[in-house]
Amino acid sequence: MIIGIDDTDSREGMCTTYLGALLMEELRQYGTIVELPVLVRLNPTIPYKTRGNACVGIKIATSCPDKVMEHVISRISTMSAMECEMTNPGVVFIQDAEYESFREVLGTFFQRAVREVLSIEEAKSLIAKTGLQSKGFKNGRGLIGALAACGSILNPGWDHTFEYLAYRQREKWGTPRNVDKNSFFIADSVTYPETWDTVDVSNGLVVCVPHSPDPVLYGIRGRNPNVVKRTAEMIGSEPLKMSCVYCTNQGTDMHLIPVDSIPEMEEMHSYIVSGFVSGDLFTIPGGHTIFSISDGSGTSLECTAFEPTKDFRSLVRKLVQGDFVKVYGSFMNKALNIEKIEIVSLAPLVVSHNPECPSCGKRMESAGRGQGYRCRKCGTKAAALVQVELKRDIESGMYEVPPCARRHLAKPLVRLQDPSVKIFPSR
Ligand code: ATP
Repeated sequence: MIIGIDDTDSREGMCTTYLGALLMEELRQYGTIVELPVLVRLNPTIPYKTRGNACVGIKIATSCPDKVMEHVISRISTMSAMECEMTNPGVVFIQDAEYESFREVLGTFFQRAVREVLSIEEAKSLIAKTGLQSKGFKNGRGLIGALAACGSILNPGWDHTFEYLAYRQREKWGTPRNVDKNSFFIADSVTYPETWDTVDVSNGLVVCVPHSPDPVLYGIRGRNPNVVKRTAEMIGSEPLKMSCVYCTNQGTDMHLIPVDSIPEMEEMHSYIVSGFVSGDLFTIPGGHTIFSISDGSGTSLECTAFEPTKDFRSLVRKLVQGDFVKVYGSFMNKALNIEKIEIVSLAPLVVSHNPECPSCGKRMESAGRGQGYRCRKCGTKAAALVQVELKRDIESGMYEVPPCARRHLAKPLVRLQDPSVKIFPSR
């Protein structure tokens, strides 16, 4: 049986992955957990999300499905942050006899939940049509993520990575986390690039330890279950309540939709789109750097490198009009929030200045409108300004925001396997 769960937490505490990890232990009394549980990130622009728009899925071989369902529903009822208006849990159960009938429809639902904006009505009507066993609490919004989690398990072909999540003991929730910061830097230096986003070396930050009052102590992300576990063994910290390795779509760019032109883009979706840098770049109060690109359709798109992306903004500031770029990110409030950029080709950067006097080497001055230039001292003359092409201090290739500003779904450049593109991973 497959179990999909979502929307059990609030900003004040809890975390759906914690409930998933707990159920992994508790459900063993009813059968055998099959494969690793999944931690699926859905559309990152959804306003209802608590933090990272995650849902979880578990697969269990059991001869008492009713007991499993009863146990899961009871745990969701007692452990969810029901008092929070934004918490609307949902759970969906799929029996193995139903797998084939629902594989395709739920696979599509999963893909759409990662990229599009779905409604509670759509989820409820799919459940009604298919007769799937489910329970929605309060307004039932969590059924969207619960269906998507089931769809991800039924269709396992998607690109994936792994995350080891370490959970705190109950009495520690909401108190400062006791971790040995240095151990994260050491562990990262041993296993990077097999693991990523443990620390941000350039900014001197540990990025895998959350700051919210939830049960997660830290999470180690990487290419396979062994490397994330091995890395976690190098971490010094307060005693754990438990840990769990999830298979996840984090770090895969699954949310990005490639489009050929800017007018195809819709709010609250994430895209890969190309265009020429048009207009000037500027940085607004608050530190966000903004520029525009325009494509063949004649439409332009505002692209933003937000202040938290730190040094990535210095790179963006080196772009000039005419550079051809491919930008990756979410389209919200009529602007694209950049996660990654490929500089495809650089435009020549030409500056013009007054000619130099061949006798004294000083810059000539204008001799008056339409009369060229002349050196006051030597009387030498020249007809026109001199054009000089400056060397650009950036290279074509792929650049990304630093780990401290990375989105869960964004594929880190160390995972890119395209030898035709030069990559500049941020670490
Ligand atoms: P955490 O990661 O800590 O578990 P969260 O950030 O995942 O929290 P949720 O509490 O799960 O946030 O809230 C997200 C809500 O949005 C869920 O109810 C989920 O079903 C719903 N949702 C997810 N994806 C979509 C989508 N594409 N369209 C509409 N609603 C969605």
